[in-house]
Amino acid sequence: MTDTYTRLVRSGPGGMLAKQLGLPRPSRLLRRHDRPEPVLGPVVVLGTSAGADAIARRLLAEGADVRRRLEDLRTVGSVLVVADELAAPAELGPLVLPFAGAVRSLAPGARVVTVSRPATGEDPARDAARGGVEGFVRSLAHELRAGGTANGVLVADGVGLDAPGVVGALRFLLSARSAFVTGQFLTVSSPAGTETENLSLPLAGRTALVTGAARGIGAAIARTLAADGARLVVLDVPGAGTELSRLANELRAVPIQLDVTSPGAGERLVAALRDRGLTLDILVLNAGITRDKLFANMTPDRWDPVLAVNITSQIALSDALLEAGDVLGEHPRVVSLASTSGIAGNRGQTNYAASKAGVMAFVDALAARLAPAGGTANAVAPGFIETEMTAKIPPVTREIARRLNSLQQGGLPVDVAEAIAFLASDEAGGIQGETLRVCGQNMVGK
Ligand code: NAD
Repeated sequence: MTDTYTRLVRSGPGGMLAKQLGLPRPSRLLRRHDRPEPVLGPVVVLGTSAGADAIARRLLAEGADVRRRLEDLRTVGSVLVVADELAAPAELGPLVLPFAGAVRSLAPGARVVTVSRPATGEDPARDAARGGVEGFVRSLAHELRAGGTANGVLVADGVGLDAPGVVGALRFLLSARSAFVTGQFLTVSSPAGTETENLSLPLAGRTALVTGAARGIGAAIARTLAADGARLVVLDVPGAGTELSRLANELRAVPIQLDVTSPGAGERLVAALRDRGLTLDILVLNAGITRDKLFANMTPDRWDPVLAVNITSQIALSDALLEAGDVLGEHPRVVSLASTSGIAGNRGQTNYAASKAGVMAFVDALAARLAPAGGTANAVAPGFIETEMTAKIPPVTREIARRLNSLQQGGLPVDVAEAIAFLASDEAGGIQGETLRVCGQNMVGK
């Protein structure tokens, strides 16, 4: 899908004018996923630590075209910088500078990924080096062109670079599945999780429920999880029943018509699952609404429904499912929908941002509750995604909103879905209470 602005500024007189005026010229089309998704190669692994050697061997064993030197390469698909042993800021330059000249040889849609350790507050020089990796990645992400992305994996001290969460995060970030994720870090805080054996169908044998699945991002999540092998339960309001049945037929999914804010919705969901003999391994809390208004004009009829759908229902549903005791699998994966508005705030969205900031704090607390049994809770924070929700934004505001990120275009629902599919996988067991932004490095933040 290419939008009108992108078509105009990519070629002909419009292209020349845009170049002269310095207007954004988005890459025509970000490369999206193929299944099973290969690492974009050739992949150059930089770094001299034992961890760098181990990762290079690992990628090689998976069939990737792995190199340890940039020389002699005309095009580079991915660069992996393994910086797990940094002790002082001066060590970062020798690690990354050899790659500076090669930035121009990066293939369209190239991936740059760092693997490093998070700051711990124990050693000022070491922490400064570790923090430096984050600044490097976030700036490089702003500089890459043609759909290239830069992201990092932060591996907690004591967790090996061969932990399932690290392997899974690398597979995700080095592939086209992370097309709209850039300038971000994923923290692997424990060695929990198990490696995926069936890379073609990583969610085979799992049952997933997606709320708000009738359209938009929810429908894309359901389709992506189904393509990854999961059995789907799709839920939406009775008013969206026709679209929901169509999706359920397409995916051979179980449809449930339910307003998640209705009294006793959690108990009714538990009863519906028991009736059908279903146990959920994956719960995606996606249903969400907006009722934008400047705070000066904010009223309870705009505030209350947004809080009710976007966060209160998530607490009620997850409480009911956890308390029931027999409708969740052994290691449940919960993924909730936040928003970049919840991170940076947004004019006219005090209600929405309050609900979405609430989601991020909620998954953090829920993660602590689920972790002892091997469950996880995380959130995904989309930026500007092309859906019916964003189609309602006035045209000029919408056009500006979709350009204000490093990839200079809006994301697609499938981009959010791919991040959720990764966080829902067995491999992501060591990723807990995180919020992953899928926003093309939206120029908002705190
Ligand atoms: P959408 O409006 O296209 O779809 C939302 C779905 O949720 C609809 O099918 C709707 O019927 C359902 N829903 C609403 N209230 C419900 C209720 N009470 N019970 C059950 N289902 C209900 O929205 P979307 O753009 O696909 O957004 C999906 C999620 O992603 C939302 O949580 C939204 O806040 C979040 N998000 C979207 C964007 C974006 O750019 N589109 C950005 C950030 C976050």
